[in-house]
Amino acid sequence: MTDSQVTADALEVAREAYRREREKRVRDEGNEQFIGTDGVYSDFQRDHYADPGFTRDPITETVEVVIVGGGIGGLLAGARLREAGYNAIRVIEKGADFGGTWYWNRYPGAQCDTESYIYLPLLEELGFVPSEKYAHQPEIFDHLRSVGRHYGLYDGALFQTTATEMAWDEDEAEWVLSTDRGDQVRAQYLVLSTGDQHKPRLPAVPGILSFAGKMFHTSRWDREYAGDDLSGLAGKRVGVIGTGATGVQVIPNIAAHVGELLVFQRTPATISVRDNKPTGPDWASALEPGWQHRRSANFTACVTGVAVENDLVGDAWTRTMMELNAAAAGKTDPFSANELVDFAIMERIRSRVDESVRDPDAAAALKPFYRFNCKRPTFNDDYLPAFNLPNVRLIDTGGRGVERITPDGIIVDGELHELDVLIFATGFDVGTAYTHSRSFDLVGRGGVRLSERWANGMRTFHGLHGRGFPNCFFLGFTQTGFSPNFTHTLNEQASHLGYLLGALRERGVGVVEASQKAEDEWVRTIREGRSPSQLKFLRECTPSYTNGEGKPDDENRFVAGRYPGGPIEFFAVLARWREADSLEGLELTPAGTQRGEQDQQTREPAMARYTGAPQ
Ligand code: NDP
Repeated sequence: MTDSQVTADALEVAREAYRREREKRVRDEGNEQFIGTDGVYSDFQRDHYADPGFTRDPITETVEVVIVGGGIGGLLAGARLREAGYNAIRVIEKGADFGGTWYWNRYPGAQCDTESYIYLPLLEELGFVPSEKYAHQPEIFDHLRSVGRHYGLYDGALFQTTATEMAWDEDEAEWVLSTDRGDQVRAQYLVLSTGDQHKPRLPAVPGILSFAGKMFHTSRWDREYAGDDLSGLAGKRVGVIGTGATGVQVIPNIAAHVGELLVFQRTPATISVRDNKPTGPDWASALEPGWQHRRSANFTACVTGVAVENDLVGDAWTRTMMELNAAAAGKTDPFSANELVDFAIMERIRSRVDESVRDPDAAAALKPFYRFNCKRPTFNDDYLPAFNLPNVRLIDTGGRGVERITPDGIIVDGELHELDVLIFATGFDVGTAYTHSRSFDLVGRGGVRLSERWANGMRTFHGLHGRGFPNCFFLGFTQTGFSPNFTHTLNEQASHLGYLLGALRERGVGVVEASQKAEDEWVRTIREGRSPSQLKFLRECTPSYTNGEGKPDDENRFVAGRYPGGPIEFFAVLARWREADSLEGLELTPAGTQRGEQDQQTREPAMARYTGAPQ
């Protein structure tokens, strides 16, 4: 069907189908349908890439800045703070290296879905050109390690270390950070870049621990078992639960290596064209300085409805979003205005399933019936054809999900599917309260905890500062502008932080905190600016983490904390604020006025001082 043939009747039929499919999936439990991977499930969090025997002596010291999280956000913060002249930086990271997502997710086929020329950070600074349009995990991970080396961040990194508590010491005007290795690090500034999707989750179905075969989560790929060449999976009956962005990548990449592959599906993903290509030999030669920033801004503009002259990235993601945004532009109810276009896009996605999958029953089950963007879209050219392989079978659960796990396998619809290996591609704890998925709860001024202060949703100024938590800065999606290119948002935040800490030093500021008024206004901007049209759209969507698993009114859902004007406007707000150079909205206390600092001479010299200078 071409776009022009889409009729009001067809749309009505689609609406009804979408509603029916949604009904099958909505559950009262929302996020509670998942269990974390703590306690008896902690083996699902085991790091297969770290030295299990690693030990070191605890550290007790004082630094200028402590960054929690060594993923892309933490690295960018470290880089920008180095540029701003800060050297005594400690990075606390639970993995055994930098990389964050790209340290943990090493399943076969792991690859960035955002073009690598804008997704990999600091390409110009490091003079690196990715080898393909959508780089694979080993290359991304290597690049992130190069960033750590380039900015000298390895020296101050504490790997295989989890922050357990961070408390503001009012007298000393310092954060005191404790870790699971007995460290006590005092820092003037605390930067939290702890990621949104790092804690693996499992479906709360009975019997998981009774399974007698091998099982693991995709973000903790068991390479000892599977083998680097996947020979450990040869001849095995392997089950994968989950067909989101991860499942879609891992399934075609293990299919040819296993005896039998059973794919347990609850909701089919949208599978758009990938069209990956190696980087041409001349690609980089035409680039002008500043190209990465311009290209990132262009992508973010394309996908969020900001006018551009050219779509520089030109992939399925930008093209689809530009179609949707064009139909919505200037409309008071944009999500209704682009419904027809959305339907046509989804029809194309459904047709692609028919063109790619030979078995008509499998093809029917693999067609997504919901609006584009109800779930995180995926892009892949190998996933759908994998269902034509003789050893791959789709077990569609009709929207209900797997029922039970037994020692022998998985039960769906009362039928046992016997398995030797069970792989959970069931995602991460996301769209829950900030402190829910993290190993710590901040203790701010007056002993007030972040979980208390944010009990009814996040409260920030610029997404960076939270009142009651002076000298602490949040990076990530904490009431900030959301670009699907996470790197873009993190880079803008890190650059802003670099400016801010530079300005504080120049002005001799010791303590910085958002004023009550500035925070209230920012929170009001976020909450009152929410689009009723988008909320209606999310309410009608099939459940996923983007709508709080079917509960879009929940303050903690993934998108609840987005700046309503979109990321490009958000970055402009920050840029104008920097240009004004007045630090408006912040309460500043000059350095040296805290009791502890005055008493510095008489204090016990118990703390070593880490300077970041080469040793
Ligand atoms: P998701 O949360 O997106 O997907 C989880 C999958 O598990 C879904 O298919 C879900 O089904 C399924 N599931 C959950 N419970 C059950 C159950 N009881 N029975 C059967 N199936 C179940 O996790 P992912 O790891 O796939 O992706 C998380 C995010 O990570 C992505 O959205 C993306 O942001 C990021 N990512 C990015 C990549 C990239 O850029 N290259 C690659 C991979 C991930 P249902 O849909 O019905 O809920």
